[in-house]
Amino acid sequence: MRTPFVAGNWKLNKTPDEAETLARCVVDAVSGVTDVDVAICPPFTALERVSSVVCCTGVGLGAQNMYWEAEGAFTGEVSAPMLLTCGCEYVILGHSERRQFFGETDDTVNRRLKAALSADLKPIVCIGESFDERQANVTEQVVETQTRGALDGISAEDAQGITLAYEPVWAIGTGLTATPEQAEAVHAFLRRVLAQIYDEDVAQGIRIQYGGSVKPDNAAELFQQDNIDGGLIGGASLEADDFAAIVKAAI
Ligand code: PEP
Repeated sequence: MRTPFVAGNWKLNKTPDEAETLARCVVDAVSGVTDVDVAICPPFTALERVSSVVCCTGVGLGAQNMYWEAEGAFTGEVSAPMLLTCGCEYVILGHSERRQFFGETDDTVNRRLKAALSADLKPIVCIGESFDERQANVTEQVVETQTRGALDGISAEDAQGITLAYEPVWAIGTGLTATPEQAEAVHAFLRRVLAQIYDEDVAQGIRIQYGGSVKPDNAAELFQQDNIDGGLIGGASLEADDFAAIVKAAI
């Protein structure tokens, strides 16, 4: 039985002061919720402040990206050991905005993933097709290639600590959501791919979140699907009450 997992991706939003306030509201709004893993992922500059708020509350802390080297001449990058010193438990990797705007590829996602796992961070690996790819009926090929590329060389044991996030690019921040049936079909397909890469047991243990315009009014129907194990939430995670309602929809 997989525990649902709902994570908030705050993207490029919130100063440290604002982040601390929002984190306090999230902690209050989800207090008492059990049987769902919850995490919030503020920008790097707010990680330490948010860490002091969420520490020991049951709300986990995640970063939105990291580099694969631990230190060195890599201007502008942040490493896994640095995230650990800020109190991070999770890290989002390969978000479509990173792929679209910052040149991330399946290979660089794979390198980041290996470094995150070596550092004992829990990765959330994002995959998803563009609007054109869905129109061209190549969604399955696209998400299979991204999944196999990200997981290349990752052992079955390590794979069980990974969360996959299926995020159709056309649904991110657009207000368009995949229907529960569309999302479930891709999630079920991904689980078959995971069973081919590893085995059925491993595939059944890996959580697959859905992301793309999840809101309080559509979350429950999405999360009720057999292969949808919670969500990666962008816009709606910036409102504590909306985020908490989405978390509660995963119970
Ligand atoms: C995201 O950024 O991962 C995301 C799913 O965004 P939104 O919920 O705003 O579509």
